Amino acid sequence: MTETNPIIGRGNRDGAALFRSWFDDLNSAAQRGEKAAYVFVMGSMNEILKSFDMHVTFPEITSLQLAVRHVAHDYLQEAEDYGYSPDICGYVKADVGVQIRGGKHPMGQIPKPNISVFTNACNTYIKWAEIWERLHKIPIFTMDVPGHRQLGVYSKPGDSNFESDRSYVEIQIRELITTCEEVTGKKFDIDKLRETMDYTNQMSASWARILELNRNTPAVYNALTDGTIFLGVANAFRGTQQGAKYFADLVEEMEYKAETRIGTVAGEQHRLTFVGVPCYPIFRRFNELFSEWGGTFVHSSYLWFASGGTNRGYQYDLTDPVRSLSEGTLLNVRDAMDSMFDQTRMIKNAINEFQLDGVIYHPIKSCRTVSTGLADSRRQLLHDTGIPSLFIESDMMDRRVVSEAQLKNRIDAFFEGLNSTKQRAAAGGM
Ligand code: SF4
Repeated sequence: MTETNPIIGRGNRDGAALFRSWFDDLNSAAQRGEKAAYVFVMGSMNEILKSFDMHVTFPEITSLQLAVRHVAHDYLQEAEDYGYSPDICGYVKADVGVQIRGGKHPMGQIPKPNISVFTNACNTYIKWAEIWERLHKIPIFTMDVPGHRQLGVYSKPGDSNFESDRSYVEIQIRELITTCEEVTGKKFDIDKLRETMDYTNQMSASWARILELNRNTPAVYNALTDGTIFLGVANAFRGTQQGAKYFADLVEEMEYKAETRIGTVAGEQHRLTFVGVPCYPIFRRFNELFSEWGGTFVHSSYLWFASGGTNRGYQYDLTDPVRSLSEGTLLNVRDAMDSMFDQTRMIKNAINEFQLDGVIYHPIKSCRTVSTGLADSRRQLLHDTGIPSLFIESDMMDRRVVSEAQLKNRIDAFFEGLNSTKQRAAAGGM
């Protein structure tokens, strides 16, 4: 029987196990006082840092784990008592809570950083890293990645604008290598960099394939719930053999499910895309509010920007690693920024490709970067396509601004409307 085939659900099981091992590794690094870097999901530069054998911590991920485990409010309160405003990014405040507690986290000890590396993809990254600079007296490294200059005008490799931006990123990567040599006391090894980039190539090709496989009906995974597990591995294990293998296995599982038409939910009725950052304080319940109506998230902008643009499947040229890393960083981080600020263009393409029935916009209180402008984006999408959409607000960390009852009312009304529209269409009324 297909239901008992161990390949089904393997991605979620292996992903959870890998994730625990990532926390275990951070815990041991903290105990042994080994070198660690704090980085972010949009432009982690994991390939460079792994080539120097550094442990890499993603505070966005360690913070969201606090919300999933229903303890974030304690950490947020501690940071607010310390003087941080209720208005700022909840990830920052949860992390400040962890730092105040000397790195203690429910999943283990988070090591102190020896360096922080971040891009300008989110302005909060820069101010957040300055907190660690002050707290831990560490060097911080800003990778300034130029975005698109004009909506609708996208330079590409070979264009003079693109090549000058790429050179600008390459110079910074070479400076980062020198800084890593100083921090670790190790000499840069270009073959080791090639190896980490090769693993990222394998992972990126698989990630692009995974996203594509959800064009199938029924959808083979839920982009919101399963997708978040995949994203955790994509970030924490980028540039590693384990990460490459995990994603090769995941492709095998999803291709099998597509071939045998095994969907992620029984009775898929409404295919949805999700725009924004998930509601982690009630993560499972939030999804159930949709799945109880037969709604499945087959697609999401989160899987693009929170993978740092890995969705593009970009392949590094290993014959010229540093140059190619600069090109890939520019393309991927730029894509991640577009996925946050200008996702309408991409969603328009997805409507047919993924046979979408509706778009769920989820702006959140504490992430202005992703949420600002979503109301305008929704208006534009409605004007251009007429696709039904829902605009619901809550938060990714702060349970004080998450009202399940209000969310449920809005979501129920959305599905009632969607059902009656479909019924009228089936009856030939529209
Ligand atoms: S403001 Fe948003 S994008 Fe920036 S760090 Fe916070 S959650 Fe991430």
